[in-house]
Amino acid sequence: MERREQLYTGKAKSVYATDDPDRLIMLFRDDTSAFDGVKVEALARKGAVNNRFNAFIMGRLAAAGIPTHFERVLSDTESLVRRLGMLPIECVVRNLAAGSLCRRLGVAEGRELLPPTYELFLKNDALHDPMVNESLAVTFGWATEAQLARMRELSLAVNDVLRPLFAGAGLLLVDFKLEFGRFRGQILLGDEFTPDGCRLWDAETRKKLDKDRFRQGLGEVIEGYEEVARRLGVPPA
Ligand code: C5P
Repeated sequence: MERREQLYTGKAKSVYATDDPDRLIMLFRDDTSAFDGVKVEALARKGAVNNRFNAFIMGRLAAAGIPTHFERVLSDTESLVRRLGMLPIECVVRNLAAGSLCRRLGVAEGRELLPPTYELFLKNDALHDPMVNESLAVTFGWATEAQLARMRELSLAVNDVLRPLFAGAGLLLVDFKLEFGRFRGQILLGDEFTPDGCRLWDAETRKKLDKDRFRQGLGEVIEGYEEVARRLGVPPA
């Protein structure tokens, strides 16, 4: 499958058309951004690490019956996916309090959340991805009631698959963000699942092994991602 014109450049990935109108190529770049693009750096090896990581996780999700856009890895940093009509909503599931939840509600970091929480954010950097809800999403036409119900169901199902997978590798899945899109009348999981979009802590020491290492200037960012990949058994390049 050959890359055609570039359709979209995100903060960490670029998306290309292919000869097949139903398929796209996602290129994972080394670029890493935080705070709505205010902090940006290229971190060597990140594109390749995330491409393999994403393929591994998407494979596990598909095997568990979760419909995803992922088809196959094409190269070190590229994967082939189905072309979705993306919904402009980020779905966040949390098992432990961290990040914006702590800031918003004054909750201590690391507090267990039972049952896990589910939040929606509008994908809009200029507005700093504001928290929204299902009523706003329906009224403004970002998604229908039925799509929102499916996104919630799939997000919680992803948690039920991945939480034990990470636990088996001695990792706590603190929280994660998912994006969904439409494909022939169905809602599929799109975008990526990598340490750029989730929080993972060592289960014993609670050492952070995800993008918070970059956000918080903790150093050894990619070493953290590689540690997670090694523990999960993601095949090396
Ligand atoms: O910042 P916050 O605590 O709301 O993030 C929750 C989860 O969603 C984290 O794992 C974070 O990495 C992810 N996230 C993301 N992209 C965003 C916002 C949050 O991947 N734009």
